[in-house]
Formats: sequence, C-alpha cells, structure tokens
Amino acid sequence: MREESGLSSAGDVSLDQAGGVWLSVVVPTPAHSGVPALLSYRHSQTLSPGQLVRVPLGRREVLGLVWEQLDVPPPDLDPTQARDVACVLDALSPLNVSWRRLVAFAARYYQRSLGEVALSALPAALRDLDATQLQRRLKRKAPAANEDAATAAPHPSPEQAEALATLQATALPVLLFGSTGSGKTEVYLRAAETLLRADDNAQVLVLVPEINLTPQLQARLTERLAPWLGPAGLACLHSGMTPPQRLAAWLAAHSGRSRVVLGTRLAIFASLPRLRLIVVDEEHDPSYKSQEGARYSARDLAVYRARLETERLQADGVAEVCRVVLGSATPSLESWHAAEQGRYQRLAMPSRIGGGDLPALRLVDMNLQAKGTVLSPQLMGAIEARVARGEQSLVLLNRRGYAPVLSCDACDWKSQCPNCSAYRVFHKIDRTLRCHHCGHTDRVPRACPDCGNLDIAPVGRGTEQLEEQLAGLLADVRRPDGTAVKVARMDADSTRAKGALEAQLAALHSGEVDVLVGTQMVAKGHDFRRITLVASVNADAALFASDYRAPERLFALLMQASGRAGRDSARAAHSEMWVQTWHPQHPLFTALRAHDYPGFAAAELAEREAAGMPPFGAQALVRADARTQAAAQAFLNTAAHWASELPEAQGVMLYPAVPTPIARVANVERAQLLVECESRQTLQRLLAAWQPLLLQARGAPEAKGLIRFAVDVDPLSI
Ligand code: ADP
Ligand code: ZN
Ligand code: ZN
Repeated sequence: MREESGLSSAGDVSLDQAGGVWLSVVVPTPAHSGVPALLSYRHSQTLSPGQLVRVPLGRREVLGLVWEQLDVPPPDLDPTQARDVACVLDALSPLNVSWRRLVAFAARYYQRSLGEVALSALPAALRDLDATQLQRRLKRKAPAANEDAATAAPHPSPEQAEALATLQATALPVLLFGSTGSGKTEVYLRAAETLLRADDNAQVLVLVPEINLTPQLQARLTERLAPWLGPAGLACLHSGMTPPQRLAAWLAAHSGRSRVVLGTRLAIFASLPRLRLIVVDEEHDPSYKSQEGARYSARDLAVYRARLETERLQADGVAEVCRVVLGSATPSLESWHAAEQGRYQRLAMPSRIGGGDLPALRLVDMNLQAKGTVLSPQLMGAIEARVARGEQSLVLLNRRGYAPVLSCDACDWKSQCPNCSAYRVFHKIDRTLRCHHCGHTDRVPRACPDCGNLDIAPVGRGTEQLEEQLAGLLADVRRPDGTAVKVARMDADSTRAKGALEAQLAALHSGEVDVLVGTQMVAKGHDFRRITLVASVNADAALFASDYRAPERLFALLMQASGRAGRDSARAAHSEMWVQTWHPQHPLFTALRAHDYPGFAAAELAEREAAGMPPFGAQALVRADARTQAAAQAFLNTAAHWASELPEAQGVMLYPAVPTPIARVANVERAQLLVECESRQTLQRLLAAWQPLLLQARGAPEAKGLIRFAVDVDPLSI
C-alpha cells in the first residue's frame, strides 16, 4: 500500500540507543495554541500509522494517533526529554490511509491544526477509555439478521432505472437532480442494496442535513436493509446522541460491523474502512457547512473522500471505485456548475412518482392590497376552502416569536438587547423579551422603561402572532365534521422540549391540525400527504438581501416547501404554492412558476460569473472577535497588510475589514475581512502562507483587546 511521504513500512524499525522506535503522534492541539500537532514519542515496538495510542502531554495523558514512524530520531529533541507512548489501543485496528488523508486535507484546506481536526473527528468517549475498557466494549455481540422479514423494494420507475444504470457506469461524482417526490431516496436505497449484496464487506455512508431528518430515513433504511444486514448493520451518527451511543456507533462502523452509516455532517469523518458509496441527500442544504471549529463543508469533503477511497482501492489492487451521489431538487450552484462543466455526472429525474404535478404558483401582488394587509383575502379564501375540504395548509414565516421589536410610541425606546447590536424579540406566550443572539431574557416591562408610557407596542410579526391572527380569521370556519378549525405552530420554540417535535409531527400526520404556521424547519424533508397549500408570507427580504446567496436559498426553500404539497397524487391536482410579494415581476418567481430550476440556475450563474463570485471565484473570510470594534478591525487590517506583501498575494484581493451584520453579540465586537481570488489554489497558497502572520498579528499593539479569530474558507454567508 502506498502511504504519504515519509511513512515508513512496518518492518523498517529505527532504533535509538535506548532501544525502541520513534513515532510521530498527532495530539489534540487547538489551531492557535503554538504547540505543533505532531509530537515525537518513543515506543518499544513498531506501530502502524493510524494506530490509536495514549500519550503524555504536559501533565495529562491524551488520546493520540500514530502518524508515522520516524526513520531517524527527531534531530531537535533532547533524548533525555523523550517521552514514551503510555499505552496502545491495540484492540482497534489502525485508521486507514484514506481516513488519514481526509483529516489531513480538511485541516490544511480549512486552516486548522491536524491535531484538532483528527482528534475531534473521533468520538469524545474514546478519549477517556483505556485499552481494557475498550476491549470489553468490542466484545458485545451483534443481534442476528432475519432475512425473511425483508420488505420488497418497489419496481423502479423508468427514470430511476436509468439513473441507477448511469450511476453504475460512471466514476464521476453524480448529481441526482430530481424533483421532490421523484424517488431519489429510493435510488439511494437501491444503489446501497445492490452494492451491499454484491460486496459482503462494502460500506455505505448516507448524509442528511439535519438530525430531524434522520428518524424518517432511518426507518426506511431499517425496513429495507435491517432484515438481511441485521439490526447492527445500520448505525446512526449525529450530535444528538449521547457519548456512549456515539462511541458504539463509531466502533461498529470502524470494525466494519455496520454496513450503512446514516448521519449528519460530522459523520463525514466516520471511520469506514470499506467505504464504497457516499450519499449526500439535499446536498444544497447550508447545514452541511460547519459554523464552528474547522468550518468544513461535509458535502465538499464527501466528493473529496470518494476520490481518496477510490485511490485506496486502486492502490490495494481492487478494481472498484467509491461512488458519491449528491441529491437535490434544487442543487447548490456549485454542484450545478460542476455538472455543467462535466466534472460531475448529472442525472435528472423530473417526474414525481405517481405522476402528481408540482403545485401551481399563486402570486399575490401586495401593491394591490388594502394598506396594512398581512394575509390577503385571496390567500385566506384558499385556506378556508382547504379547511372545509379536510385538507391541510402550511404557512411559512421565517421569524419566530411574536414580534421582532417592542417599541414605545411616546419616546424612542426599543427593546434593544443590552449586550448585542440587535433587538430582543417579544415572545407573548411567556411575556418575555428574548435576544435570539445571546439569549438575554427579561420579563416584558409593563410600561416604557424610559418614559413610563403604558403604550408599548409590538412592531413587525413573528410566527406566534401569525398563528394568533390565523386562528382569529378562521374562527368561524368549520371542518367537514362541523368541528372548529385547529391552527398550530412549529418552530424552534415549540419544538424545544424533548419529544415535542415528534408529537407535533404526529398531530399533523393524523390530520388533527388544519393550518400549520412554521419557520423553514417544517419545509424540509418531511412528507406531509394531506397538505395541499403552502404559503410564504414574507419572502421579499431575500430578493434584495446583501447576501448574494439569498435568492438561491429562497428558491430552494420555496421549491422545497412546495414539494411538501400534493405528495398525495389524488390531491395533487389542486395543490398550490402561494407567495405574497411586493415584487411579483421578479425573475425568481417566473422561474418558480415554471418549476424551472435550470433556468433559475443559469440566470444566477451568469450574474455570479459577471461578478467573479463563487463558483467562478474562491472566497475566504477572516473573522475577528474583540473587546472593541476598532481592535477587531485593526487586527484584520494589519494582518491583511502583511499578507499583501507576501509573494503568494499576487492575484488575491484583500478587502478592508468591516463590522459583521450584527456587529456586537454578548458584548463582543465582531468584524470580518473578505479575501477573494479567481483561483482556489492561489487562495489556498496565500492562506497557508498567511497563517503564521495572522498568529503574529494577534500581538500587534493595535490589536489589543482581540479575543479570537477564525478563517472561514468557502463561507456560506458574507
Ligand atoms: P424523493 O426522495 O425524491 O423525495 P422518495 O424516494 O421519497 O422521493 O419517493 C417518493 C414516494 O414515492 C415515497 O413514498 C416512495 O416510497 C415512493 N416511491 C419511490 N419510488 C417508487 C417506485 N419505483 N414505485 C413506487 N413507489 C415509489
Ligand atoms: Zn417611552
Ligand atoms: Zn443579546
């Protein structure tokens, strides 16, 4: 097997005078700590790269990962200072070469330390186990399979059959472009099943954007695969699991016992020694981009990982590949562009299973409504008709709470958060003012805190208020059985309690709820058969947002949401997507009306190309947090000035530092600096050369008060 540079082969033992070998070990060091991620340790015997060990670090003993065996003792290390590996977790096979290459790439590309990325990719519980405890865990036995209980797969539609055949025939990453309800999930299932039956060791990784979406897919995978793979054949990995659960799932995947791993973005780092297929469902979803630590994109890493796995298979002399499928009804413009260029293989599945049409678009021109109209009479009429027919409606508003601001008419008081440059949101349900950025919460004051005026009023509208308004407007409407209408709300507030989300989904499925008000969390993935109307009541903000990705996200959200309607073909005929807008002529709505994602994408890509925006150029953001806005910006500008003098800065555009859209959060001032370049490679070279200067700039006198900084490569919002 070919290893990276300098990895010596197992037989090639290098002894120092005391006997034993020298190993370079990855230890957990944060990106900016100054401690290198690779430290040298002595051990009595040869260890393979990827072997997990426990090593002393300072006064502690930590989990480490053998990176390579050194041919000669480290030259700069005083032998009397040398430390020994404390113990070897030899019950675990070493992490394989493609896994190691994946974490090395992620660390390099996203500008973090190898130690941070490699060790945080391992389950936390592994850090605390000694070799004996580990041995005990690995002994647990897996329950047996029961082949007879297997549910038969439906016969593939012609589009599905074609997609599957092309998938088998191509070695390129595949972009499965299929409408909601076109049977994409069925394609993933079949591709997985075919592979797992053909190769007794093969493993499959399925990524979904949100934890909420795992139970549904888990049920489908279990129903189809568990009967012949056994219940242990399927493992889940996401942040909602307890540390022991995560460890168990991780071990099952690492040992090869689990053949399918279903997880959220963090599962991209699962150890899967026989990985042959990666599925990224809803690949356009922003949740695939991590917003803390190493700000990696699990979707992008999935494509990279498939290539690494294929190289590993080839190096092992296996004539197989690892495939990657990115699925979406509204692909990211990055993936769409890659398919246009022929770097990805595009597979289109335009038809819905059962032939149901996508809902028709109804635009309400708000310019023609009476002043102050929140819900137009046309929309209310359409909702009332649904209630009367026993059908459901979904009303989307992307703002939770009752009102975003509380304001005094007499003076200028507003419900400003004392810690942030943002207003606190009025939550009527528990009569609180809550900051959605820092969490600061107070009781709603009886009177204006500044002038004592009793008339403090909510400004603007959130989901709580919309729910209240809809209930009022529909009070006299009856369901087919003569009972009163039921309006409910689903957002991050209503689903916070454990089990609340499940209960609310169940109420919706049972038909108990007629009208559901919700944030975008309800628009994703869930399969609601009785919904025949979806309405978006404040989409306009995204049309003119400063964030150039806002239209892409709005289009995806509206397509996704309209995909919720009419999943049941008997009701599809009169399914509708309603949008209230002040700009009904906007081209985005023209494309939406025709369900024309390719048209929308072509127009957006042309604009991006003209502006040199991704995917036509590469970007990185450096974010800085400081006690003062001046310090945050000075740090960034100083670092940028130093960067501009590097030879690697040729062709790279460094913009001046600016405050972030919400400049102060929890009394910390935030600024950011955009770096842009036509070429991803050139940008990467600059970032690598810049890293030590950024660390150095922390000490610049003008940066006094700096708290932290972070580099965000390929940022999703700027
Ligand atoms: P998507 O993932 O594209 O939204 P799904 O795979 O969930 O679509 O399919 C939509 C619905 O159609 C599901 O209820 C699924 O069980 C059903 N379905 C998918 N493929 C077939 C098929 N070939 N024959 C019959 N029903 C199918
Ligand atoms: Zn006042
Ligand atoms: Zn706040």
